[in-house]
Amino acid sequence: MKLSLIPYPSSITYLDGFTRSDARVIKITDTSVPKEGFCVHIENTVTIEASDAAGFYYADLLIEQIRFQCGQNLPNVHIEDAPKYEYRSFMVDCCRHFFDVDTIRQMIEYCAKLRFNVFHWHITDDQGWRPEIKAYPELIETGSKRIGNHFGKEQNEEIHSGHFTQEEMREVVEFAHSHHMQVVPEIDMPGHTSALLASLPGLACENKLVDIKTTAGIFKDIVCAGKESSYETLFEILDEICDIFPDEYIHIGGDEAPKQQWKNCPDCQQRIREENLKDEEALQGYFINRITDCLNSKGKKVISWNESLNSGNLSKDVVVQMWLDPKKLSKKSPNRLIVSDFYHRYADYPYAMTPLKKVYNYDTDINNNVIGTDIPIWTEYVYDFEYMQYMCFPRYIAAAQAGWSKNRPDYSVFKAHLKELLPWFGIENCAKESEWDPPTASRIAKVISHFGAICPNENIRNYFLNKE
Ligand SMILES: [Zn+2]
Repeated sequence: MKLSLIPYPSSITYLDGFTRSDARVIKITDTSVPKEGFCVHIENTVTIEASDAAGFYYADLLIEQIRFQCGQNLPNVHIEDAPKYEYRSFMVDCCRHFFDVDTIRQMIEYCAKLRFNVFHWHITDDQGWRPEIKAYPELIETGSKRIGNHFGKEQNEEIHSGHFTQEEMREVVEFAHSHHMQVVPEIDMPGHTSALLASLPGLACENKLVDIKTTAGIFKDIVCAGKESSYETLFEILDEICDIFPDEYIHIGGDEAPKQQWKNCPDCQQRIREENLKDEEALQGYFINRITDCLNSKGKKVISWNESLNSGNLSKDVVVQMWLDPKKLSKKSPNRLIVSDFYHRYADYPYAMTPLKKVYNYDTDINNNVIGTDIPIWTEYVYDFEYMQYMCFPRYIAAAQAGWSKNRPDYSVFKAHLKELLPWFGIENCAKESEWDPPTASRIAKVISHFGAICPNENIRNYFLNKE
């Protein structure tokens, strides 16, 4: 028999005969096995070799998959495997709609089975600030609550609120670690900061009231990069964040920051002159670099979305997460890269726009700077966990396979394995097979109906024509 395995291993050799499912399991530490990798040999006994705890953990998951489909008699087999990328991430947005710790734990459980090793936790944005910061209690008192929800079919004036205590965040970190997963918090700056500025108005260019946003979009309210006090406050906030999140990376956003307020702000303009910067984009580079220096001094590495590359002066130390046009943008970047092209990796887009096959087949090997991939679920239009699962799964499974396997089988093979293993993944509300790859003829109409007034129909048609 041929085994169904997800992610599919680098090498698999079938041997003669069978071994009982309850055969002795022997675990051997072998430092020559690559990080997170393993070697599994089933023949009379089940022998696992790995060099680290994650390798043994992933080997156990593989053996579980084999037992699940084979029952009492396992085929004798020799499997060697190791990940393609060191950074294999999934993201959950807890700002546009709040999702609690139970949801996060469930997502971590699902995603650990896919061998994701990073949970990218989006916890600050225009529509809500979620992490408790003890030095600034107003971030929760003010920033975690909005009045009104105007996202697609959801139109009301109700209060939407939610936050994570430091204790809860530490619990999530511990839970993720027990699943061999790091947690990367995303603290957005200088844009996507309406909830931050509503709580701490002194961080804005003009000291005026900023609203916490109740709609989707890009907003002009951004942190002042001219005033020294902005940096002091952000450093204090990041101090606490670094203390809560002990892992390697902090994501500091950097996307979608319109520069109009910086153009009109005497402090920002003075900073541009004093630092001899070319323009407001270069000021963003200066801003991101200063935050990066601060975080580097605390032993952290920094991730920013690709807009920070527009500055032309971004530090080489910053890892750039590509959501826009990775192939084109990466040509001008010496930085290390995480690829999460929105057109192939945004799980909040309908299956009609981003079918499973498109997620699976997307080639993230842009150049040698790529350290990994991410797959985000943004939650403007994701109101509950049931729908989140439907949107994420099985697309997260396809992305996980693509991020792990050096030896990726054809989509038809993956799909056959997926159908067999879906019960093993145990996802409560996975999308049904009939929805994974909608017929081409129906897709444009479905996408137009999904986005409604948000996106001009012409743009959607162009995507289908140019980017398929
Ligand atoms: Zn300013």
